[in-house]
Amino acid sequence: MENNKKVYDNVLDLVGNTPMIKLNKLTSNFKGNYQAKVEAFNPGHSSKDRIALYIIEQAEKQGIIKPGDTIIETTSGNTGFSVAMVSVIKGYDCILAVSSKSSADKIDMLKNMGAKVYVCPANVSADDPRSYYQVAKRLHEEIKGSVYINQYFNQLNIDAHYNSTGPEIWNQTDGKITHLVACSGTGGTISGTAKYLKEQNPNIKVIGVDAYGSVLKKYHETREFDKDEIYPYRIEGLGKNLIPTATDFDAIDQFVKVSDEESAHTARQIALTEGLFVGYTSGAALQAIKQLNEDDYFKPTDNVVVIFPDHGSRYMSKIYSDKWMNDQGFFDSQNEEASQSIQY
Ligand code: PMP
Repeated sequence: MENNKKVYDNVLDLVGNTPMIKLNKLTSNFKGNYQAKVEAFNPGHSSKDRIALYIIEQAEKQGIIKPGDTIIETTSGNTGFSVAMVSVIKGYDCILAVSSKSSADKIDMLKNMGAKVYVCPANVSADDPRSYYQVAKRLHEEIKGSVYINQYFNQLNIDAHYNSTGPEIWNQTDGKITHLVACSGTGGTISGTAKYLKEQNPNIKVIGVDAYGSVLKKYHETREFDKDEIYPYRIEGLGKNLIPTATDFDAIDQFVKVSDEESAHTARQIALTEGLFVGYTSGAALQAIKQLNEDDYFKPTDNVVVIFPDHGSRYMSKIYSDKWMNDQGFFDSQNEEASQSIQY
């Protein structure tokens, strides 16, 4: 992936090679140096561009697909957008099976990127033939030569980050990184990046960020699936109610859990202090750093890299809506007030 051309062949040339940006204000009272790998600079505005491009190109290399074939995935989120974008450029049909909980805006966005969207009922179990998992599986079986991205259970998700995010961070820090802080959803980002970085320097510490309501932290500590950990939460893309095989738990040193409310406020602070309009899980990742600092975890010599996975524009009707924040009761216990709009 070259990133210094004057004119790019197409938008996929811009996947990866995202900038590392120092955090100057938010972390000024914390021990150590902090910089963010800002994945919103990918053309599809998230880290998922990397896995969509990598997984599709691996299938091409292995001769599994050729233009005109079909790519299938089960998400209305960032991965759906990235798979649709790569499919447009490379000439694949893109089918996304999404839950009926997905917002109309998200479904419209995917359709406008050329995806065929199957809206499946949200209130059925994963093994119901109408669920989006089963619909995707069935379509994959029925459509000859189709590729199912299956990001939670695909080793190539880890490999994508091992081959791009990891080397980029190592180079951008001149090998001086001491800590990586990254959200874990499928686990692909943290596992692949950690594997590469620890091969360069086994002393680098890797901290996963998990949500209250998710099983990942407990599983990391006990290697047991504890369903009592599971309850609904609002942050999308972080944590899980199952154990993804795309997570290499041995590559992660510890997990920190963060709340919906604090992560939302921290995301809003990132925009107001650093001028970076990033998504909900970026707030979650910085919230984990705040909590570690409260526990006096970092040393003044530490060089911490935090991954900010996506752009804030995808959360306009959530954390960047004062009404939504108010409806969640998120303005009650914090000092932050609703932002002011001036009427003429
Ligand atoms: N943040 C957001 C917004 C995401 O969509 C995801 C992906 N589910 C993550 C973080 C976590 O990345 P990964 O799936 O690689 O663990």
